[in-house]
Amino acid sequence: MTVFWWRPLAALAYTALFSIAVWAVSGRVPALVFASAILLLLFLQNLRHLFALTRWLKNPQANTVPDSFGLWEEAFSGLYRLMRQQTYSQQSLSSALERFQNAAQAIPDGVVVLTEADQIEWCNPVAHTHLGIDNDRDRGRQLSYLLRAPAFIAFLENQSIAEPLVFKSPLHHDITLSAQQVPFGDHQRLLITRDITQMEKVETMRRDFIANISHELRTPLTIVGGFLETMLDMERIDAETQHGYFRLMQDQTRRMQRLVEDLLTLSRLESAQNNLKEEEVNVPRLLQILLNEATTLSGGRHQLTLHAESDRWLLGSESELRSAFGNLVSNAIRYTPAGGKISMHWKNRGEEMTFAVSDTGEGIDPNHISRLTERFYRIDRSRSRETGGTGLGLSIVKHVLTRHQAKLEITSTLGQGSTFSASFPAQRTLAPEKENY
Ligand code: ADP
Repeated sequence: MTVFWWRPLAALAYTALFSIAVWAVSGRVPALVFASAILLLLFLQNLRHLFALTRWLKNPQANTVPDSFGLWEEAFSGLYRLMRQQTYSQQSLSSALERFQNAAQAIPDGVVVLTEADQIEWCNPVAHTHLGIDNDRDRGRQLSYLLRAPAFIAFLENQSIAEPLVFKSPLHHDITLSAQQVPFGDHQRLLITRDITQMEKVETMRRDFIANISHELRTPLTIVGGFLETMLDMERIDAETQHGYFRLMQDQTRRMQRLVEDLLTLSRLESAQNNLKEEEVNVPRLLQILLNEATTLSGGRHQLTLHAESDRWLLGSESELRSAFGNLVSNAIRYTPAGGKISMHWKNRGEEMTFAVSDTGEGIDPNHISRLTERFYRIDRSRSRETGGTGLGLSIVKHVLTRHQAKLEITSTLGQGSTFSASFPAQRTLAPEKENY
């Protein structure tokens, strides 16, 4: 910007020149009067601008910068430019701040900004859900006054601990949180809380699962090991005893085989890469095969019937459906004392198709029903083992049905019997292919 510094000097020079001219023409006094009048005018004009500037400074706005001319005009337009720049940087700063706050609010973790003295400076809505603190209500309050658990206070005090603290949410006791502190800025800290309830559940399930498998394998392995040791120690062993021992060892080996097979089936069903086959499954024919197998398994101890009230087929994996339906039928046989009745049904239920197995067996206490599909959940462990169970059958059924968008329903009366029903949505059912039927 060009600064016209010479303008006021030019005004003074002109005044001096005119005054000398007046002096030459009219004498000293008029010249002095003329010079004084001009200087007074200049003084008053500067005073007016100074007032305008003082008034403007009380409420400085870019659009109210006073108008002027000469040197004042330059000063005022400089001020106007400064104000515009300041307004612009203020606007971009507040939009950056707004963007940051929006981003911080959207973070799925709880975030609390703490001062050096543990006072809350800011927190996001998730921190409110996790810790019960409120950004408006609790700003400036000390976090350790609001959350009094000794472990949490010790964690806040000991800022050097890099390990996250795992604790229960003070607001929702069924939520497990992990908290971590991150130093930043001028002795400030970020407290980040994360909901690890699901992770913890998965970890517990993994631990239980490994413990269960180890337990399931240990018993048969101990029995087989025991017989082998006995046979090695015996100097002479008659053929009948030896045969008996081999038979018992074979039973235990089969038990381990069944367990490993069921585990592999479960792992295949859970594998994300294992897409469901979309085969056209002839259910009435499949049920006929299952009835024949069930007759062999029952060995004439039960009265078995099949009621295929519909000829509809299913769209899905034939081997998976066979395994699920087979598990339900074999359970009915295993948990129904000799002389009992077992019936298999294939019927319409509105738009849905239902496969149901009813038995007149021992029945199930209602307290157990919701947990039956958990892996290794059994009501009577020894009863399950005696009948060759692995504790994984209903788990497999549940997985197969979920993959087919079907639902398992269990109704039972203790001492009277149970019904296990698998209902398939309309889009999974189809009319039979007559030529293949
Ligand atoms: P298991 O190999 O022990 O049979 P499942 O997962 O197939 O394992 O079944 C879990 C438990 O559910 C069984 O241990 C048994 O207690 C109970 N159960 C399953 N089906 C029946 C049934 N038809 N009648 C009574 N109890 C049943």
